[in-house]
Amino acid sequence: MPRESKRAKRERAIEICRRMGELYPHVESALNFTTPFTMVICVLLSAQTTDVAVNKVTPELFERWPDAEAMSQADPAEIAEVIRSIGFYRSKSAHCVEAARMIVADFGGEVPHTMEELTRLPGVGRKTANIVLNKAFGIVDGIAVDTHVFRLATRWRLTNKPTPLQAEQDLLDILPQELWGPVNEQWIHFGRDTCRAQRPLCGACPLADICPSVGKADGNPKPKARRRASSRRS
Ligand code: SF4
Repeated sequence: MPRESKRAKRERAIEICRRMGELYPHVESALNFTTPFTMVICVLLSAQTTDVAVNKVTPELFERWPDAEAMSQADPAEIAEVIRSIGFYRSKSAHCVEAARMIVADFGGEVPHTMEELTRLPGVGRKTANIVLNKAFGIVDGIAVDTHVFRLATRWRLTNKPTPLQAEQDLLDILPQELWGPVNEQWIHFGRDTCRAQRPLCGACPLADICPSVGKADGNPKPKARRRASSRRS
């Protein structure tokens, strides 16, 4: 692909978002949550784990500790027992209790709704905070860049940065804010359905005419960068 001007890249990125909107007009979070607090816990638990696995443990979890007040008094070892089928359950159970305690102590029991406050919570990084702001409060302050979004943004050469955090800044720079909201969920769906990590379905891809990685086995981020990115916490 010849060198692309920033303007051309921006137009291509906007066109990608337009087509994603056509493909996935009604995407919803697969996580089962009912309140901002349960959303925080769900997203916190979902790091490096599937949404399906999280949904299996949360019914008992939220029945026993339904809000910040209740979970702030829980024993992390008891929570660990309930969530032990998901990855990193020990550190996640500690984060659940620590986050609940901070919500009670510093925010009157209510989940805060600014990026700055949310990222003070243990276990909550920008990705988690972006999802919570967007889904629980309807606030779009950034783009949640997980491994799928990072992989696609890299394949589409919208970023060449080595970490999701840096890639988010490139996406925020190139996309108008009104397009940020659905990026995370639409791109995750597309990354699972079509632009898979291994053997992407380029032959049936609706982006083939505007994708710089079409038909290339090397469309993935370089292994070193991907390893570093996937080892980052949410
Ligand atoms: S053409 Fe291939 S690499 Fe490009 S977005 Fe489609 S599936 Fe992914």
